[in-house]
Amino acid sequence: MISVFGSANMDLVAYVAQAPRTGETVTGRAFRTIPGGKGANQAIAAARAGGRVAFLGAVGDDGFGAEMRATLAGAGVDVRGLRQVSGSSGIAHIVVDDDGGNSIIVVPGANGTITGPSGDDLAAIAGSQALLLQLELPMEAVIGAAQAAQVSGAPVILTPAPARPLPEELLDAVTLIVPNEHEAAAITGASGAEEALDALLKRVPEAVITLGAAGALYGSRSGERLRVAAVPVKAVDTTAAGDTFVGALAVARGEGLAPAEALRFASAAAALSVQREGASTSMPDRAEIDAFLR
Ligand code: ATP
Repeated sequence: MISVFGSANMDLVAYVAQAPRTGETVTGRAFRTIPGGKGANQAIAAARAGGRVAFLGAVGDDGFGAEMRATLAGAGVDVRGLRQVSGSSGIAHIVVDDDGGNSIIVVPGANGTITGPSGDDLAAIAGSQALLLQLELPMEAVIGAAQAAQVSGAPVILTPAPARPLPEELLDAVTLIVPNEHEAAAITGASGAEEALDALLKRVPEAVITLGAAGALYGSRSGERLRVAAVPVKAVDTTAAGDTFVGALAVARGEGLAPAEALRFASAAAALSVQREGASTSMPDRAEIDAFLR
């Protein structure tokens, strides 16, 4: 079982010619609600890629919470560890204008009420083969979960997004860190990906820096270095490419694939996802990934 301890958000997206200024009301063109949050996205990506996955997190007692639960369960994710708290679910309120620019308000809601893993979360983590973490929950909660996995011996895969300073007590418990190139630069202060990789490996045993259409760079403290090209495809929407990559990577590692094969599997899953619109709706299932790799 792969456990994901993280955020579940509903994205509320309004499409408009021009975003309103303070005091102004404008008429929008379209509106969509899209289940998201990096935690939920990674859980769905891993389940679609063939993993047995449990999601540990919180939603509010509103309709968005019920929809998030149904979306996760519909993708085959075990949602027994998804608790309901009173108040609103996490939301991202997004305005997209005709120039493709966007402004976003994130209200953590239920995600912000998680101060640490519950007793049930600890039991789930103890029985897990790997733990996936991101930084959309309060930092003390992320640290608590990482340390619990370290005690039980489950590898911790951290996506350090949104980028923020990483406490040593968190990094001490991380096995593999997977930033994109912007996050890697923000964390390390390094200017190039190779330099950032060296800096990351001083703090964690393994790192992958994702480079969008340029692929990914892997390194381990044992000295292995790999550069994996992205699969050349026509991208229509790269939303959640990183989450798809990490979910699939966790599944491949759990199946015992060596780094080069695991990265190829993750790159195939991400390449399939960027060819379709949406976040969780764009994530490929196992049969598609296997067919793509043949
Ligand atoms: P997001 O924030 O949109 O989830 P990210 O910035 O975290 O993405 P990226 O580095 O953009 O992550 O992409 C992750 C992986 O997805 C890349 O390493 C690559 O394998 C794949 N990918 C991204 N963009 C493309 C593309 N245009 N064509 C093919 N593969 C892509």
